[in-house]
Amino acid sequence: MMRKVQMLDLHREYQYMQAEIDEALKRCLNHQQWIFGPEVKELENQLTQYLGCTHCIGTSSGTDALVVALRALANKLKGQEYFDRTDGIITTPFTFTATGDAILRAGATPVFVDIHPATCNINPAGIREYLTRSKTQPATGLRVVGIIPVHLYGQSCYMDEIMAIAKEFDLFVLEDVAQAFGASWDSKKLGTIGTAGAFSFFPSKNLGGFGDGGMVCTDDDELAAAMRMLIKHGGRDKYNVDHIGYNARIDTLQAAILLVKLRYIDEFNRRRANIASLYSSALKGIDDLVLPRENYSSSVAEMDHVFHQFTIQVLNGRRDELRDHLALNMVDTMIYYPVPLHKMGVFQGRSSVAGQLDQAERASEEVLSLPIEPLEEEETFTNVAGLIKGFLES
Ligand SMILES: *Cc1c(COP(=O)(O)O)cnc(C)c1O
Repeated sequence: MMRKVQMLDLHREYQYMQAEIDEALKRCLNHQQWIFGPEVKELENQLTQYLGCTHCIGTSSGTDALVVALRALANKLKGQEYFDRTDGIITTPFTFTATGDAILRAGATPVFVDIHPATCNINPAGIREYLTRSKTQPATGLRVVGIIPVHLYGQSCYMDEIMAIAKEFDLFVLEDVAQAFGASWDSKKLGTIGTAGAFSFFPSKNLGGFGDGGMVCTDDDELAAAMRMLIKHGGRDKYNVDHIGYNARIDTLQAAILLVKLRYIDEFNRRRANIASLYSSALKGIDDLVLPRENYSSSVAEMDHVFHQFTIQVLNGRRDELRDHLALNMVDTMIYYPVPLHKMGVFQGRSSVAGQLDQAERASEEVLSLPIEPLEEEETFTNVAGLIKGFLES
């Protein structure tokens, strides 16, 4: 029997860069500037360079990054503190709750559009169909103002088409890049293609801190200024405030840790891609199994997947049995996500659906994410693949 294989091994990642992290923490202990300390500015500067955008603004979480970006958009587009319930924002039902929840918290109504079965990302054809239909029959009472594409599992959405639709229908695009730090579409880093991008530094994300943290990026000066106000209570001056704000800045301590981890992000993302190829070749050609797409380069676009998750789809109702089999053999797996957003209580009566969401519902019953610790030995993944193959072929 193998030792337990976890989804990630954060102890191991800490040990890998322990001297640098300990030193960074010690520097903070010495300067004691816990709020907006020098590491925050430095992190924002380095992220701006890494991503290739004008502004990066650290936030207290990825969720807050989404909320703050939406609130700033309401301010810019409508001159209001919040969106109205009649403002629709298109997104995927197959994401973490926070994506949809942020739309509600910004006052708007989520409009769920089904996913593409191969990528599990929102299907641009569904977006176009919904927008074209609602133009001719505006029966829902909703006016769509924007799209939040979610780059699920580290894989880019089909951004050319999403940006073309946004242009045609005059919509903002807020990229949810929580799972895809460092990934790109056509050589552009994700988060910098739309109007703004929201990132999460939750500990298990590709670039993860030691607690909550996040960031918004944009090239729009007006949005950036609004977001900077919103994360510190809503005013340029903390003691004389204009907007309904939050206390949603990133901690100096998290920024210090993330500055160290940022030095390793390309190496770690490469290691993830290597693990993904290893899994892919070991699991090729098995019945009842659909593998994620690897990086591809075509005449249409080039995509750089950072494999936040390596997520397989197990057909014919065998997902849960396979999961049990792996658990018996000490291999952890996760289901992202077991319940699509349109099935959750919080979205009942507060959201709208663009037709049947069959693919999202099917995916919730078939997806299974496998361990993908970047520092784990190859042999471990070969063993995991062997267990899967053995089970599905028996
Ligand atoms: C993690 C995640 C978020 C939220 O980020 P937090 O930092 O946990 O608030 C939002 N969207 C997606 C797709 C995520 O995976």
